[in-house]
Amino acid sequence: MMKALSVIPGQAESARLEEVPEPPERDGAILVETLQVGICGTDLEIVGGAYGWAPPGEKRLIIGHESLGRVLSAPKGCGLSVGELVVGFVRRPDPVPCTSCGVGEWDMCRNGQYTERGIKERHGYCSERYRIAPEHLVKLDARLAVVGVLTEPASVVAKAWEQIERIGARAHWQPRRVLVTGAGAIGLLAALLGVQRGYEVHVFDRVTDGPKPGLVASLGASYHHGPASEASQQMDIVLECTGVGQVVLDVLANPSANRIVCLTGVSSGARRIPVNMAALNKTMVLENDVVFGSVNANARHYRAAVSALEAANSDWLEQLITRRLPLARWSEALVRQPDDVKVILQLAH
Ligand code: BGC
Repeated sequence: MMKALSVIPGQAESARLEEVPEPPERDGAILVETLQVGICGTDLEIVGGAYGWAPPGEKRLIIGHESLGRVLSAPKGCGLSVGELVVGFVRRPDPVPCTSCGVGEWDMCRNGQYTERGIKERHGYCSERYRIAPEHLVKLDARLAVVGVLTEPASVVAKAWEQIERIGARAHWQPRRVLVTGAGAIGLLAALLGVQRGYEVHVFDRVTDGPKPGLVASLGASYHHGPASEASQQMDIVLECTGVGQVVLDVLANPSANRIVCLTGVSSGARRIPVNMAALNKTMVLENDVVFGSVNANARHYRAAVSALEAANSDWLEQLITRRLPLARWSEALVRQPDDVKVILQLAH
């Protein structure tokens, strides 16, 4: 038996740490000891009963999709050895499979029948041990032992950046100014990847104190906390990482020629905002503006994320992890604090 943190999806206040059976062999040949699990907005939604699905025939879902683990056992010849650091992918292809899942691009799944560990119909990584197939994980160098848990959120922004650049290839384009809205872990990692690409990066967030302004400054980017409508002027690329309706609208209402806006926030609010769609349409057409959504990541993006983390300043990455709590204090980790960037649960050292 082992400890695992689970919820009844759809039911708030149902989270609990309990003893569950060891991971089943059918989950994969590699047995992994979980070292760390990161908590993100999606986890808080799941814990709040607003998102998440249990595996078929089960009531509870083990949460956790951002992880760092160490191989406990692996079959000979699979390319992994005991003690190596690994990060498990979140999504698994749909069973049909659709044309995207069929080529390993499960992040672009077309029929919605994909599953996600810790989110949709598959147990997550917040258990002392888990099993996984070798094709569903990425190996990490030992020097990422402290910040490797950031690989999954970094994979999400690595995909977003890849897609922006692919879309940008539609015409001659020399982007210079990048705006990232939201200085949470996703926003800061998006800013990091922008700086690594040589762009002039601006980050917008509503807070004026706490660690975020300093983290942006030490990246060499500019911090903005005024109205999003002001911050979004004259940008070539926008990575929207808040999912807040008003911020999205402020960004869209301030287009510039040939701009590409990538939306990454899975919005939860239900507040209605009136929009003059005809005016928005007109400016988007006249400016060749692109607005697109990006979710999840495939193997290529996890590898890109690992390279980005390896190239980054490790002290800066460490500062993104603002709280580390042992598994026994899981309930504190699930309550957002004003200065949180990334909160992690430490399951083992
Ligand atoms: C995860 C993604 C996932 C998405 C939608 C995000 O929090 O990082 O991997 O696809 O939620 O479920």
